[in-house]
Amino acid sequence: MEFDTIAAISTPMGEGAIAIVRLSGDEAFAIADRVFKGMGGKQLQTVPSHTIHYGHIVDPATDTSLEEVMVSVMKGPKTFTREDVIEINCHGGLVSVNQVLQLILRQGARIAEPGEFTKRAFLNGRIDLSQAEAVMDMIRAKTDRAMSVAMGQMEGKLSRLVQSLRQEILEILAQVEVNIDYPEYDDVEEMTLSMMMEKSTYVKGQIERLLQTSEQGKILREGLSTVIIGRPNVGKSSLLNSLVHENKAIVTDVPGTTRDVIEEYVNVRGVPLKLVDTAGIRETEDIVERIGVERSRKVLKEADLILLVLNYGEVLSEEDRRLFEAVKGMDTIVIVNKTDLSQSLNMDEVKELTAHHRLVTTSLLKEQGVDELEEAIASLFFTGSLEAADGTYVSNNRHIALLHQALASIDEAIMGAEMGTPVDMVQIDLRRTWETLGEINGDTVQESLIDQLFSQFCLGK
Ligand code: GDP
Ligand code: ZN
Repeated sequence: MEFDTIAAISTPMGEGAIAIVRLSGDEAFAIADRVFKGMGGKQLQTVPSHTIHYGHIVDPATDTSLEEVMVSVMKGPKTFTREDVIEINCHGGLVSVNQVLQLILRQGARIAEPGEFTKRAFLNGRIDLSQAEAVMDMIRAKTDRAMSVAMGQMEGKLSRLVQSLRQEILEILAQVEVNIDYPEYDDVEEMTLSMMMEKSTYVKGQIERLLQTSEQGKILREGLSTVIIGRPNVGKSSLLNSLVHENKAIVTDVPGTTRDVIEEYVNVRGVPLKLVDTAGIRETEDIVERIGVERSRKVLKEADLILLVLNYGEVLSEEDRRLFEAVKGMDTIVIVNKTDLSQSLNMDEVKELTAHHRLVTTSLLKEQGVDELEEAIASLFFTGSLEAADGTYVSNNRHIALLHQALASIDEAIMGAEMGTPVDMVQIDLRRTWETLGEINGDTVQESLIDQLFSQFCLGK
């Protein structure tokens, strides 16, 4: 494909000591040579690929030097976009980086749209759509774990799996064609049906397996929304502080969120907790008293995890019981705090109310029990079988929706085959499954969706 040469600042605005101006396209080397003055007048067009060169960026119109730089020269197709790529590493702060970019644009490059580098990688066949989306996830990753999931996807783990399932379906469809072409052989029909059942059932199982990872995949990607509840003075703020303190907060306020929703991320053993504070719900003195059991259940239901705090030094109150009532059936960890005080709480009663929830005892004052709490949080979401063995998690909402659709149509195919529906009818469901799966990798998506997806990227990626 033929594209013009694009350029952008590809490092986060205002952060970091080094900023990179990236160029990609046929003219990248020529444009760079017009502004780069290296040792002994060397030409970037003639240097070996994948090398770095020291020099200055000089405006040819005025002969003034704008920046001292290191320039990486990478010849296509062994680059991210598969095109010729130049990366100019500047260290002079935002103003001079911008000057370098403006100069490059005056020399004939076009400013890149958000996500356009990644879009080119996709259009040039370097990566497929699910890999491109992984790039987006990598940019947004909030924990190492989320990063490694995104990287696995970037490396094409999900793509390969989806591709192999599509291949299975193609084989069934091919067999069905044989059947339609030679209907006079009875045993062909028999064979077709049983093979169709077997392969379809296998594909269905794989889709289900992928969907099973989606819950955790989404948690890794978006964080586990967590609410701390308990009576006044039990230690909710102390708990919040110790979680934030020990697990360095990653983001304090997320741009684009409204003022009354503040999200704070902490990383607990690879599980990103999103401590949600929606109009004070994060730390609620008595949510049940204030808004009633039914409504508070509704609010709490939106949380993935509830931390219910009790006071070891006081007897169980009506309020405590109402809280237990409100969290029935939800993922809850009960925390008995202030174990350094003399006991007033009846632990047998607490254990009974706790039922199948987890119970942890802490003295936040003496910094005791926080490790056990973190262990409980981590094990709640990474219990052996649930963890995808090969690291292929599905975390993207678009992928999850498509997998659900694919599951529905393969189910129809299987049911049809079981009920003796004519094979050419079953064929339609199989074809739909094949197409739906293809949308995950971008093999069968329309242009407008592609534009929309890439426009979500950051500038310069
Ligand atoms: P909240 O009202 O539930 O947010 O409770 P706070 O976190 O503000 O704590 C209330 C009081 O209890 C503060 O004075 C804390 O220092 C104290 N506190 C918190 N944890 C413990 C603990 O484990 N033991 C004791 N003795 N005091 C604690
Ligand atoms: Zn408090």
